[in-house]
Amino acid sequence: MTARSLPDFVERDVDLAARTTLALPGRAAYFAELKSTAQLAMLAREPALRTMRRFVIGAGSNLVLTGDFDGLVMKVAIGGRQLVEENDDAWVVRVGAGEDWHQLVMWTLAQGWPGLENLALIPGTVGAAPIQNIGAYGLEMADRLLSLESVDTLTGKPVPLDHAGCRFGYRDSVFKQQGWHLDGQRLITHVSLRLPRRWQARTRYAELAAELERRQLASPSARQIAEAVIAIRRRKLPDPATLPNAGSFFHNPRVSGSLAERLATAHPELPRYPQPDGSVKLAAAWLIERSGWKGRDLGRVGMYERQALVLVNRGGAHGAEVIALARAVQADVSQCFGVELTPEPIFL
Ligand code: NAP
Repeated sequence: MTARSLPDFVERDVDLAARTTLALPGRAAYFAELKSTAQLAMLAREPALRTMRRFVIGAGSNLVLTGDFDGLVMKVAIGGRQLVEENDDAWVVRVGAGEDWHQLVMWTLAQGWPGLENLALIPGTVGAAPIQNIGAYGLEMADRLLSLESVDTLTGKPVPLDHAGCRFGYRDSVFKQQGWHLDGQRLITHVSLRLPRRWQARTRYAELAAELERRQLASPSARQIAEAVIAIRRRKLPDPATLPNAGSFFHNPRVSGSLAERLATAHPELPRYPQPDGSVKLAAAWLIERSGWKGRDLGRVGMYERQALVLVNRGGAHGAEVIALARAVQADVSQCFGVELTPEPIFL
């Protein structure tokens, strides 16, 4: 491909390490920072770019680079936050996919619109949030999403999705079910959220309830809940700026009721959360800690000492070391408990 054939916002041979929070080495053959949907349409019209592998990133906070990428990386940087509707039931906010999720949470709260407080300080962009249906402390994206706007990156055509079309599940959506998060075929440009006027605090998670009790807040406001969540997360989670990481590294597994019962007989203190479908959700962090991996390193990577679910890069690590550690942890958890852990981040 000649440089002449590229739109001027497409860069070549771009370092990705600094654009991901785990800071592993890797370069993109082509890289485009997209601030508008018009740029997407330009990419789709460019024959040379149409045929190459493509991948979409936001803040790079859920990404493991395993080496160089020989295609086009599209970084979503579409901004904007706007109240588009206000009625007796709710405030509806439309947000550009490149906006920072936590900044959005704090902005809505500052406007006096509650509803996102439990999701404070989750890293990443607004556009990435629906893909894995981010959730924390008993609230998830699916509870607040009204609709989203996406674009088919091959044709440049807009593809709107309503709530049902997103097919949300536990840390899951149609984007993952169809593999669009891996093949870069769909790019989310805007997300519309519905923030309820008849708001109810969600404080049933023990850690959040304890933090609110410590603060002597019997009827906390949405902002006070956000502050409590922020305090908990700051205590437990490393700041990627000082200790590179990709947040929770494994999904919390769901196992059959019979396996959960057998495990509870051998380990009465095992935390168990029965689900409506009869399965039981277990805490991956607990399983990892009890398998001996909390605070333990393998090469230049390790499982974080204050939260065993977080894999950290102690400095200069490569993707292969992350894969080796993930496999070692999976093998030990499987051997100790007969439970298979699945990584949460995307491997590129
Ligand atoms: P935690 O609070 O120690 O909880 C560990 C596990 O126990 C999670 O599976 C959690 O379910 C479950 N759990 C705890 N209390 C529960 C309750 N009252 N009812 C039902 N399930 C309960 O987890 P953590 O690792 O420190 O993370 C804190 C929160 O942030 C969790 O909600 C976690 O899911 C969330 N988080 C989300 C993401 C993401 O969206 N990608 C990444 C990191 C952390 P849930 O997972 O259903 O909450």
